[in-house]
Formats: sequence, C-alpha cells, structure tokens
Amino acid sequence: MIIKKFQAKTEEEAISAAKREMGDNVVIMSVRSVKKKGLFSFLRRPATEVTVGMEEDVEKTPVSPFSTLAKQSVARPAAPRPGDVIFEDEPAPEPKKSDKVIEQRLDNLQSLLEKQFTRTHEKDEFETEKEVEEDSSVAFLKLLYQTLVENEVAEKYVNELLDEIGKINTQKASVDFILGNIYQKMILKFGQPVTIPLGLERQRVIFFIGPTGVGKTTTIAKIASQLSVNHKKKIVLLTTDTYRIAAAEQLRTYASILDVPFRVIYTEEEMMSSVKDYKDYDYILVDTAGHSQHNKDQKESTAHFLRSIDDSVDKDVYLVVSATTKYRDLLAITDAYSEFTDYKLIFTKIDETTTLGNLFNLCMHTGASMSYITTGQNVPDDIEVFSPQSTVKQLLGGK
Ligand code: GDP
Repeated sequence: MIIKKFQAKTEEEAISAAKREMGDNVVIMSVRSVKKKGLFSFLRRPATEVTVGMEEDVEKTPVSPFSTLAKQSVARPAAPRPGDVIFEDEPAPEPKKSDKVIEQRLDNLQSLLEKQFTRTHEKDEFETEKEVEEDSSVAFLKLLYQTLVENEVAEKYVNELLDEIGKINTQKASVDFILGNIYQKMILKFGQPVTIPLGLERQRVIFFIGPTGVGKTTTIAKIASQLSVNHKKKIVLLTTDTYRIAAAEQLRTYASILDVPFRVIYTEEEMMSSVKDYKDYDYILVDTAGHSQHNKDQKESTAHFLRSIDDSVDKDVYLVVSATTKYRDLLAITDAYSEFTDYKLIFTKIDETTTLGNLFNLCMHTGASMSYITTGQNVPDDIEVFSPQSTVKQLLGGK
C-alpha cells in the first residue's frame, strides 16, 4: 500500500492534488489541520493535510471505482475451473464475466439511489442542485449502512467504516466518491490473501485446525490434489484426529487416490519421526481433531503436535471455519484457538450462504490474513483464493 500526505489551503484542494497524482482510487485515511512552520507562522492560516492510501496494484485510471478491477497477483474473483491454480507465484487469470455482473449491479445501486432522489426532489423547484447533492450523499451513507448490515457485517464494523468515511467532508462528496472510498477502505482492511507458496526453500508442514464438520478434511484433499496433480509436488498426508475413525479413513482414501503417503499420528514422537522420514517431500499436510471450543484436551494436543516440530522446517497453520456459522459462534471458535497465533483463515461452504459479512467480521476480529474460500463439495475444484475485491463488491450490494 502506498501512503502519502498532501497539504493545501482547503481539504478539497488537498484531495484534488492527491487524485491528480495518484488517481481516483485513493482512499482518504485522515484529514487534519496543520500549523505552518517558520517565522510569523502564527500569522498564517493553517493548512489542511490529507493522508491518502492506495493499494499498490490498483490501476490509476480516473474512472468509476467499479469499472476497473484491481489487479492482484494471487486473488481470483470467480470460481476456478478444473486445473486452475490456487497457490502463490502464479499469474492472475483474466477477470471473469461474473465480475462484470457485480460491477453492473453496483452501478445499478447507484442509479437506483439517484433516481430515488430525483423523484423526491421533483416537486421542490426552489431547491438548489447543491442541496440535492448533499441530501443524496447523506442518504447514500444510510443506504450503505443498511446494505452492509443486511449482508451481516457486524454493526460495530459498519459504524467504524462509516465514521471513517464521515471524516471526509461527505456533505460535498459525490455518491461516486463515497462508494469508491468505502470500497477501497474495505479492500485495504481485508488485505491481500496469503496462500500456500509454491516455490519452497524448505519443507513446509501445514496444520489445518478448526471445528468438526466445517469441511477441513475435504479442503485438505482439494489442496493436496492441486499440489500433487497440477504442480507435481511431493506431498504427505497426516492426521492427528484419532478420535474419529471415519475422519482418518476419509483422508486415507484421498491419500490412496492421490497415491501419496499417509499416516495416523498418535504421539508427538510419531509426529517428529514422520517429519524426518518424509524430509524429501515438499509439503506435509496435517489434518487435526476438530475439537469443540469446550474440549481443552484435544486443542492442547494439537498445539503440542505443532510445537513438537522443530524449526528446521517451515510451519503454517490454517484455521478452517464455515461461512454458515453464526458470528457469535465464530467468535467463540477463534477464542478457543487463540493460542494458535499467526494463522490464516479459510472459509468453507460459501456456496451455502448468501451473506458474506462474517468474512469481514472475523478478519477484523482476529487480524488474521484471509487465504482460501471453498465453494462446494467437489474435490479438487471447489476452492479458490479469497478475493477481497469481489467480496467487498458483494458486501456493498453487488449481488
Ligand atoms: P471436517 O469434519 O471438518 O473434516 O469436515 P469434512 O471434510 O468431513 O466435511 C463435512 C461435510 O461438508 C462433507 O459433507 C463435505 O462434503 C462438506 N463440505 C466441505 N466443504 C464444503 C463446501 O465448500 N461447500 C459445501 N456445500 N459443503 C462442503
């Protein structure tokens, strides 16, 4: 992200200068009045300093915020096709038709609002154009509030976002400008997705943690299959879930289909020796017991397994949760896993929900990076890299 400060006599001038230099996609992060320095500074009028930010790979073209798609190295906005790729170091595919639909819907949202206002103001011939504009930006904020809440973004975060937007002079800001700003802000808050790197310097052991039934094993199978079949990587599947025979058998079946080694791990010693035995393999993917937030023993054993692996290999943790889980339950889940720091988030069962607010909520609550979303039961196709752009568009009413 690029952050820059611009000073001018007025806020509008500072914002114009920022847009001239950086394009219309800039996000206003703060506005403050600054005293001029030097002799007789007390006689001079204070200037306004605007701090703006911009995603580094957002195009600078000064057009409507929804007519250009931000380019990103890994995120893909639409469902992948068989053989598509989901790891870092891969070229981004072209934007797909579904993005255009989302953009169009957002445009519609805007024109709907504009129509509403034209209608309300038709009768009042004495009203100035400026007053109509001011009204429409206030009402637009209300509409945004409503849309975000309907999409189940927690009110706490909706208020925070709108407060930040409110710091810009919304009375004078156009609907376009407000929409562009909130869009960019939410994208920045989500951050770029972090995915499994393909070019490895060392062996990588990846733990998948999370409650039972969310689709952890299926997600591991999807990733394992893409790594071994599409990328010809050498992988091993392990499970520490010794509580449910069916879960271990499910993974064993995937391992035999993929023709990769598989082991059930009961002790930390077995974990350590497996890492040693398979030191020539690129990735060791570890399924873990999906404990409920109430089951401390299982959680502790997962943490011990993780700790038992020394630093000669790279370790990663992915917390797998379902997009269909209630926000309050998601909070309880992340609290239960709080001793696992620095995990990435995978949201499963996106296909089973129409509201994506929880993705934003949990990302804000945990501060964790988003990584993948899964969109169905098919192995290996129904997985894709999380796309902040397309998710934010949906959250803003583009669905
Ligand atoms: P685990 O207990 O967390 O390992 O969950 P499983 O991998 O056994 O999956 C539980 C159920 O969720 C299975 O029926 C899966 O097919 C299903 N499932 C997994 N991922 C998805 C998804 O993205 N969408 C849908 N609709 N179902 C999924």
